[in-house]
Amino acid sequence: MSAWDDPATRAAARYSLADFATSFTDDPLEIDPEFTRWRALTAGAAGHYQQAMDGPPEPRGRLIDGAGRRSVINLSAYNYLGLARHPAVVEAAARALERYGVGACGSPMISGRTGLHDALERRLSRLLGRERTMLFNSGYAGVLGLTAGLLRKGDVAVVDARIHLSVIDGVRLAGARLRFFAHNDPDALDRALTETAGARRVVMVEGVYSLDGDMADLPRLAPVCAAHGVGLIVDEAHSVLACGAAGGGVTEHHGMSDEVALYYGTFSKAFGGMGGFVSGPAATIDYLCHYADSYGFSCALPTCMVAAHLAALDVVQADPGLARRLADNAAYFRAGLNRRGIDTGDSNTHVVPIVVGADRSRLYRLADALRARGLFIVPFDYPSVPVDGLRFRACVTAAHTRADLDEALAIIEQAFAAVDSAAASLSPAGPPDGRSG
Ligand code: PMP
Repeated sequence: MSAWDDPATRAAARYSLADFATSFTDDPLEIDPEFTRWRALTAGAAGHYQQAMDGPPEPRGRLIDGAGRRSVINLSAYNYLGLARHPAVVEAAARALERYGVGACGSPMISGRTGLHDALERRLSRLLGRERTMLFNSGYAGVLGLTAGLLRKGDVAVVDARIHLSVIDGVRLAGARLRFFAHNDPDALDRALTETAGARRVVMVEGVYSLDGDMADLPRLAPVCAAHGVGLIVDEAHSVLACGAAGGGVTEHHGMSDEVALYYGTFSKAFGGMGGFVSGPAATIDYLCHYADSYGFSCALPTCMVAAHLAALDVVQADPGLARRLADNAAYFRAGLNRRGIDTGDSNTHVVPIVVGADRSRLYRLADALRARGLFIVPFDYPSVPVDGLRFRACVTAAHTRADLDEALAIIEQAFAAVDSAAASLSPAGPPDGRSG
């Protein structure tokens, strides 16, 4: 008997976080009691988030599970190249920690920069073929700074419908207008640009879509931007270092560096660290240094982190086989899922969604079954993903062995079989309402 068999929990599972974004209390500090009640009824779902690990974000680890520890295969962490605990990276960070201390204790505009910040900016500019780069203390802060720093009231951000929330937040912060176009669809982009003609505009897409694992179709989207004379910004959070022959992301993969006006990336994924950056023309970066408030009004990236990222670049440049291993592992894992009849959407990268459909209780039953069998893979619920596209996201890394991936595949197969056979015995007439497979 699962908590999801309880009628009150099943009723509560009809709701999502989207339903509580508007509150009906008079005081912002008084939390809507309906929210608190819903959280209690769906505590089984909540238990899958904010999970503490008892160690580094590596393929095999342990979860803190009550008073005990649960050994798991980790498919949740986006440590794509396995650099988060690479000896050379850790050693560089440790040396910088010893020399520079823990924090930068100053905004980059005031006193937070060191020679290592300069060096990392120059390395990234060279890697990406850009004039200048600026570092942010988080990836999210980088997107906020980039969008709110450049856009003004009356401007329009024309964004792919699957764009990351950080972009939407940044555009809102700028007071600019958002205009979505259908995912990766050049005709929809063309219509959006035609309809918004006259306004100052930018187009924003992701290199690798963070919950879908497909790439921006730059060869078909960039010419549309060019035809309208609108600049293209690519968020390469999940693709920098992981894609492209030299690690220049999807922009490099498609050979479209000249067509991309501004390049954004994070250090929290393939670099295995923390922070973000924007690379582009010197004049744009100079302007952003003064108008991206998350840059000027927030403490600089700690120097030990900067040293780690420089070392990560050294490791990747000395071992181009890392990115190949990542792509091979991803293809192997995805083929294994597809052979078992599991829907991985349009993924063709190391981000591999396991699409469940619209049935929220099935999503969380599967989450329970996967975890009980020793797989750490987090469920993604609406509104983070479409209401009919609830899913798990597997982050395959270069550090996973084939044995890790085979064991994960076997667990997924067993979990789906167990959950779906229990559901079939409960409702012999067919799948529950709303289930899309
Ligand atoms: N952009 C995208 C596409 C992301 O997926 C994320 C985070 N997952 C960010 C930006 C923010 O990066 P960070 O987590 O490094 O703050």
